[in-house]
Amino acid sequence: MRAAAGGAIIASMNSLQTPDFVSQRPRRVERLVAGQPTSDGAGVKLVRVLTQDLQRRLDPFLMLDAFGSDSRDDYIGGFPDHPHRGFETVTYMLEGRMRHRDSAGNEGLLTNGAVQWMTAGRGVIHSEMPEQEDGRMEGFQLWLNLPARDKLCEPWYRDIPSAEIPEAQAEGVHVRVIAGQALGVQGAMQREATAPTYLDVHLAPGARFDQALPPAHNAFVYVYRGALTVAGTEVPRQRMAVLANTPGSDGVVLTAGAEGARAVFIAGQPLNEPIAQYGPFVMNTNQEIYQAVEDFQAGRLA
Ligand code: FE
Repeated sequence: MRAAAGGAIIASMNSLQTPDFVSQRPRRVERLVAGQPTSDGAGVKLVRVLTQDLQRRLDPFLMLDAFGSDSRDDYIGGFPDHPHRGFETVTYMLEGRMRHRDSAGNEGLLTNGAVQWMTAGRGVIHSEMPEQEDGRMEGFQLWLNLPARDKLCEPWYRDIPSAEIPEAQAEGVHVRVIAGQALGVQGAMQREATAPTYLDVHLAPGARFDQALPPAHNAFVYVYRGALTVAGTEVPRQRMAVLANTPGSDGVVLTAGAEGARAVFIAGQPLNEPIAQYGPFVMNTNQEIYQAVEDFQAGRLA
């Protein structure tokens, strides 16, 4: 078992793209996905945008949930104590307050614009509970897989307050760089095996944003305000565009519609390893899943 592999924050393996990068061979949209309205935890209403049937296509990403409601009944139950093993959870809070506590003794409060990056590794039991009685709660939770060699690493987590998330600007473009890089700005987090790019892109009406991306990286965009266009395909609000891995492509171009747009842009290097999931456990084989359930039931995840 490797020690603290999940905590390794390494310098990017790639050199920074120049701020004035212009994509010459941009990717197209392969398909649009609406996601599945569902509820999780203690009755939190959400839309599962990246569902289990897309895990292979969007490797190394396992799930993306979008939550957003002005109604307390939709979120007040929160996510009481539950386990995770074998991957990372990345929670991005657009608006609201959510308190995190875990069995490793970590505790943190996520507020507007903040990110929590948690490496479950060999296992944690944690709760994610709203710390507000009313008002709006809106954000995303992304599940990012770990390579087989790191699945049983020591758990790790980092709360990233909004002020510590690097931001990049271009004409009509404002990007919050959660992971990877954009417009010559290095993001808050880097990961060696999966090389994730996680951007919150704000576009003024008609503005254009070019992002360099290797063709092998799986990528998608989820629009949460306004609408945008990717290589001639309109991506409306509350839709995910899965981006084609066009051989020879050099990046992605997002162009906002007349009302402007806000979207999360997510990409990563596929692991190409078997995926075995049972609820909150994601391993490589069924045997490892049985072991995870057994370890959880025996109290060995706490
Ligand atoms: Fe959780």
